Amino acid sequence: MDTVLVTGGAGYIGSHACKALARAGFIPVTFDNLATGWAEAVNWGPLVRGDLMDRGQIDAALAEHRPVAVLHFAALSLVGQSMRDPGRYWRVNVGGAQNLLEACVAAGVRNVVLSSTCATYGDQDGVLLTEDTPQRPITAYGGSKLAIELMLRDFGAAHAINHVIFRYFNVAGADPEGELGEQHTPETHLIPLMLEAVAGKRAGLTVFGTDYPTPDGTCVRDYVHVTDLADAHVLGLQRLLAGQGNGVFCLGTGRGFSVREVIEASRIVTNREVPFVLGGRREGDAAALVCSSTRAETVLGWEPQRSSLRQMIGDAWAWAQRPGFTA
Ligand code: UDP
Repeated sequence: MDTVLVTGGAGYIGSHACKALARAGFIPVTFDNLATGWAEAVNWGPLVRGDLMDRGQIDAALAEHRPVAVLHFAALSLVGQSMRDPGRYWRVNVGGAQNLLEACVAAGVRNVVLSSTCATYGDQDGVLLTEDTPQRPITAYGGSKLAIELMLRDFGAAHAINHVIFRYFNVAGADPEGELGEQHTPETHLIPLMLEAVAGKRAGLTVFGTDYPTPDGTCVRDYVHVTDLADAHVLGLQRLLAGQGNGVFCLGTGRGFSVREVIEASRIVTNREVPFVLGGRREGDAAALVCSSTRAETVLGWEPQRSSLRQMIGDAWAWAQRPGFTA
């Protein structure tokens, strides 16, 4: 069986990708410093505890496991935090990616799947985003991810590294079999925060901004189920291994939901009220981010299975109610 190195494989999206890779017949080797990931989420292959800022640790992992490809998830990913501490985002995200790509060149690893983001687009007046929309990031997080995309393009051209770049929109939900889910410390994302408030594990939710140029004044986002995203990574990897060429793909549903709509969907799914207050804007938030995934569907054959808002909230709600969970 082919081995794949998964940086950030102990994190939310990376761990779901490891499960999907194992199901597709690969051995996922997780490379993670466990700064934000969880060792107990690594269940489908070995865990290498290592840091992308340490080139020697990457070299050692590539030499030991000889992967056919690298899936690169590991990064700092909080928009608000990146505005307060941009240097850390540029150093860790861009520096880590550079170490990884240089190690891949040295070890002869020629296939890379990169986790990128809708945050590379910035604020685009609510247009439906595609792979061809100009990227104009407005945050250090988005800027650092765009830099990594450009770095990968350059390494691809100079060193024959085949690559697939996925720009994801808002990832939500949890493993339908209940083995994995979202757990960040501290939690900052809308759906898990909201469900913790519903479960009485935190006081309440603050809606960040009600004066955006959107139909109800709250931010609009395109939510996509984490297992659908994981499946896309397997398809992207298979494309590279089949020699079908590089690609950039947006992953979303083409349908945006406002924060108020997410709260209303939660009320229906959980049959409980969401305790919330209206607050001011969070720095760095774009008004609306919604994408077309037509290219992923037609070129990769990607078919989202669980990305309805109610399904995502339902799976996240099951995860939030798991035994022993304390926020
Ligand atoms: N949001 C909110 N209250 C919260 C957390 C998030 O109103 O406590 C809003 C946020 O402003 C954004 C949307 O929910 O419009 C999704 O935010 P999240 O942090 O989940 O993802 P992001 O869009 O930053 O990747």
